[in-house]
Amino acid sequence: MSQASKVLRKVEGGFAHWCPGCKEMHILPEKWTFDGNMETPTFAPSFKHRGLRRVFANGEWTGEWVRDTEGNTVSYICHYILIAGVLNFCDDSTHALSGKSVPLPDLPGDLP
Ligand SMILES: [Zn+2]
Repeated sequence: MSQASKVLRKVEGGFAHWCPGCKEMHILPEKWTFDGNMETPTFAPSFKHRGLRRVFANGEWTGEWVRDTEGNTVSYICHYILIAGVLNFCDDSTHALSGKSVPLPDLPGDLP
């Protein structure tokens, strides 16, 4: 893995960016259409990440799952369109930034 720019990291199979909604990295597969702009990238079509919410400490997964009051794992959806370096979150995202547009944040410096 290597830093491609302030906001993108090159990873096997694509690029990774920090998601301010999920507070974790998401992978952008390279089969998506990418305009090649590393600082203010545009990808198409939209991305939809889904899975179980994980517990992070200092940017690393602790191996634990987020659980509700009954001890069940909690699923999430993160759906957005990345246009010119702006994450346009769709309404079906389950995090606090659902429906909002947020500039792609710089990659956290303390990630491995
Ligand atoms: Zn996300």
